[in-house]
Amino acid sequence: MAGLIIFLVAVSVIAFFILRNKSSNNNAIALPGNFRELLNEHVDYYNKLSDADKLRFEEKIKDFLSYVRIHGVNTEITELDKLLVASSAVIPAFGFDWHYYNLADVLLYADTFNMDNFSVTGEDRNVLGMIGTGSMQRMMILSLPALRQGFANELSKNNTGIHEFVHLLDKADGDTDGIPEELLHKQYTIPWINYMSEEIEKMKEGKSDINIYGATNKAEFFAVASEYFFSSPDRFKENHPGLFDLMTKIFHQQPA
Ligand SMILES: [Zn+2]
Repeated sequence: MAGLIIFLVAVSVIAFFILRNKSSNNNAIALPGNFRELLNEHVDYYNKLSDADKLRFEEKIKDFLSYVRIHGVNTEITELDKLLVASSAVIPAFGFDWHYYNLADVLLYADTFNMDNFSVTGEDRNVLGMIGTGSMQRMMILSLPALRQGFANELSKNNTGIHEFVHLLDKADGDTDGIPEELLHKQYTIPWINYMSEEIEKMKEGKSDINIYGATNKAEFFAVASEYFFSSPDRFKENHPGLFDLMTKIFHQQPA
């Protein structure tokens, strides 16, 4: 009899843990107690959402943090830094259901870094962020100061975190080429390519307010224009109405 009781107790304890793990999922991610204040204060995009959308944003943040690990490399990182990484991921994908299956780890470096040896000291340290390829597949590197800077100024057109996550969205169809086939309906592909080419020409002639780095190629154009689209949507819409319109179709959302 005692054996049976012990057996039943053991079974219920095991069942309890299995069921708890199953149902907890996102809840297993412990966000800091003041995460709403942190988001309201530091993430302008979140601050401008409706209450219902804020809840949706929070769920997506928890989901992201449940499968991506964020590490500081030779540098201390804070809970806010993790929220900024997660926000950078959620913002461009807020208009649809998305899982960054091509990402497992985000490394935050103390400074800008060298593309070839990933050193944060010495010369040629001009890289703010990158997504890994080859042996670094499923990895993203961001300069921590650049990540923070992207959310520091409401009037800025630049956001390194969003830039790199847009590269990942672009890459989902196999090519990082500025044409996110998974997101953009076929009928808009040609207009989008034409808009990109025209704007890149204007940028080269100094006739555009889009960061000149975007003239490097179409993949960089898409990432740089997206930084602007999400950071200063009103200004972007006013200065680039055609691009703005197509980008609302790519991202399935119109930032406030
Ligand atoms: Zn880039």
